[in-house]
Amino acid sequence: NVDDSNTDSQAHAVWEKDKNHFIHPFTDFSTFHQQGCDIISDSDGIYVSDIKGNRFIDGIAGLWCVNVGHGRKEIGDAMAEQATRMAYFSTFNNLTNIPAAELSAKLASLAPAHLNHIFYTCGGSTANDVAVRLVHYYFNRIGKPEKKKIISRKNAYHGTTYMAATLTGIESNNWMFDTLDSHVSYLSEANCYRRPAGMSEAAYCDHLVGEFETRITELGADNIAAFIMEPIMGAGGVLVAPEGYHTRMQALCRQNDILLIVDEVVTAFGRLGHFFSSEKVFGLTPDIITCAKGLSSGYVPLGAALISDSLYEVLGTPQGKGGVLSTGFTYSGHPVSCAAALKNIEIMEREALCENIQRVGPYLETQLKTLKHHATVGDVRGSNFMMCLENVANKETGELLPLEARVGDRVAEEAQQRGLIIRPVGHLNIISPPLIWDEAIIDNVVAILDASFSAVTESLKKDGFM
Ligand code: PLP
Repeated sequence: NVDDSNTDSQAHAVWEKDKNHFIHPFTDFSTFHQQGCDIISDSDGIYVSDIKGNRFIDGIAGLWCVNVGHGRKEIGDAMAEQATRMAYFSTFNNLTNIPAAELSAKLASLAPAHLNHIFYTCGGSTANDVAVRLVHYYFNRIGKPEKKKIISRKNAYHGTTYMAATLTGIESNNWMFDTLDSHVSYLSEANCYRRPAGMSEAAYCDHLVGEFETRITELGADNIAAFIMEPIMGAGGVLVAPEGYHTRMQALCRQNDILLIVDEVVTAFGRLGHFFSSEKVFGLTPDIITCAKGLSSGYVPLGAALISDSLYEVLGTPQGKGGVLSTGFTYSGHPVSCAAALKNIEIMEREALCENIQRVGPYLETQLKTLKHHATVGDVRGSNFMMCLENVANKETGELLPLEARVGDRVAEEAQQRGLIIRPVGHLNIISPPLIWDEAIIDNVVAILDASFSAVTESLKKDGFM
C-alpha cells in the first residue's frame, strides 16, 4: 500500500531528524541513541495518536497539564485571533495588552482573596525562580537582607532553572549538575507510605513539624526567607502529607516571619477539584502561589506567580531616582498566551470541570485502589486526578524491586500496548488525566491497568525478579 509506505518513510524521516538534533528534557541516553522517540502527532479530547495512526487514551494530560483535554478549537481560535490582531508588544514598564489585563483580574478573582497581583512567566520553573527573587527583594527592601534561606523538601520538584533546580530535592535530578546550595535547606518529604515503621500518622506529623521547628532554631528565623511546598508532591511520587501537616507548617512560618510559597503548578486548575487548592483543600493562605501547566492547559507556555497584597505593598513602593522593579521576561503577559488561558478558564467554568472532578475524582481513587490485589502494587495514593501507584517486591516490608526490573516502565509499556499512556517514574506509575474523564472511561482505564499489572507480574516471574 503506497499510503502506508509514504507514512512510514515520513515517520522515519521525522524520527531521524529528532534523534539527530533535538536534545529532549530528561532523556535516557542509554536507549535514546538507538530507539529515538515515539512521535505523537495528533490529538482529540481524551486521546492522542502517534504518527503511524495508533490511538491512545492520554492518562497523563500531556504532562499534568492538558486539563481541558486535547483539540479544543476554541482555544486555537482565540490564539489565532489574538495573534493576527496583535501577536506581541512589550509589557515592560508602562505598556500592557488586553488579554494580560483581563487574565490578571480573572486570576485575582479565582485565587484566595489576598492574592491580587500577578507576575507572568514562561512556565513553572520560572514562576518559582521569580517567587524567590521577589521574596529576597522584599526582605532587602524592608531592611531584613539577612533573611535569605529558602526551606524546601527532599523529593520536592520545582523545575530545572538554576534556582528551581536547587529547590528541587530529588537527588537524581541534580546528578552532576551544580546547585545554589547556600540558598536552600531541605526538610524531609512528607511520605505517609514510607514513614518510620510503627509510627502513627499523627506521630509522623508531629515528627515532620518538629523537624521544621528544629531547623528554624538551627538556622535562625532571622536568616530564613521562605518555605516552599507543593501541596501534594508530584514528580517526587505523588506524596500526600499527613492530616494537619499543611496548616501546622504554615503556623510555624507565620510565627517566625517566614513567607509561604505554595507551588501549585500541578495542583491548580482543577486537578484537585478547585481552581486553586491551597485554601480550599489544604487551609493555606500563602504569600505567593506559583502556577503554570493547567493555567493554559498546555496549549501555549505560560506560568504565573500570584502575589499577596502585603508583599505587593512593598514591591510596589517606588524606588525613587528613576529605579524600577527590574525583573521580568520579554514574554511576561504574552498576549497570545493570556488569550489562550482566558479561553481555557472560560471552558473550565462553562463545563464545570472543577465540579466534575469533585464528583469523578473520588471514583478514580476508589477504582484505582481495586488494583491493590496485584502482587506488585504496594500503594495507591494521591487525590482526585493526581494519582500514583507504587510498585514493590514485598508488600509487607515495602522493599523495592531491583532497578533492572524496570517495573514502572514495564507497566507503562503493557498499558500502552493496550491503548493507554501512563507515566513511569522509576518504580512508580503516575496517572494525571485530563479533567474530562467520566466514570465509563475510568472503568475502561482500570480494566486496561488490571490486565497490564497481570501481564507485568507474569513477565517479572519469567525474568526471575519474583
Ligand atoms: N513545579 C512543579 C510542582 C512541577 O510539577 C513542575 C513541572 O512538572 C514545575 C514546577 C516546573 O514547571 P516547568 O516544567 O513548566 O518549568
